[in-house]
Amino acid sequence: MEFTRLLKKGSRGEDVKAVQRALHCYPDGIFGEITEEAVKDWQELHGLGVDGIVGRLTWDSLFPASTSATNLKETKRRINRIVVHCTATEEGKDYTVDWIRRVHKKKGWSDIGYHYVIYRDGSLHEGRDINLVGTHARGYNTGSIGVVYVGGCPQGDTQKNKDTRTPEQKATLLRLLKDLRKMYPHAEIVGHKDLNATGCPSFDAKTEYKGL
Ligand SMILES: [Zn+2]
Repeated sequence: MEFTRLLKKGSRGEDVKAVQRALHCYPDGIFGEITEEAVKDWQELHGLGVDGIVGRLTWDSLFPASTSATNLKETKRRINRIVVHCTATEEGKDYTVDWIRRVHKKKGWSDIGYHYVIYRDGSLHEGRDINLVGTHARGYNTGSIGVVYVGGCPQGDTQKNKDTRTPEQKATLLRLLKDLRKMYPHAEIVGHKDLNATGCPSFDAKTEYKGL
């Protein structure tokens, strides 16, 4: 089911029923106090703003498989691999494409190394032009697309690995990888650590996404 409108106390309809089913409430299609309480509990559990209103973020976290990435640019480059990364930054801290771009340019690179960046709120951002080879996995940049989520390290220690993906990041990553696999059916999804000696992206991407 696609997100079509904000749902809150007093809303009625099939989409309210879908939310109620997802939250294990009685699906009568009427957004009342009990549904509102269940939405708030869900939001608190998933690190969302607790307002009892089902907006897009809450909807996407309830129905991650229903969302579809839009406007992904196609590339003429031959893509045989999609590589998942983390920014190796601390849990709970936000970083932008511009910030990563600055860090990478300081290393002498022409631009940000990754093609797609997923922020902690689950929003998807373009990095380097998809038509250009990235700089993200030594020896494997030609023929690959680099995808990164912001995070990957515990608070206070960027030398350690930790899967810090928020539910929103997981949902967007899954959606993006599904869409990329559709565009490049022969591309293999791997984590950076499957290619180079690194802990990045702090989880086993190859196993988690092998069914896509
Ligand atoms: Zn990496």
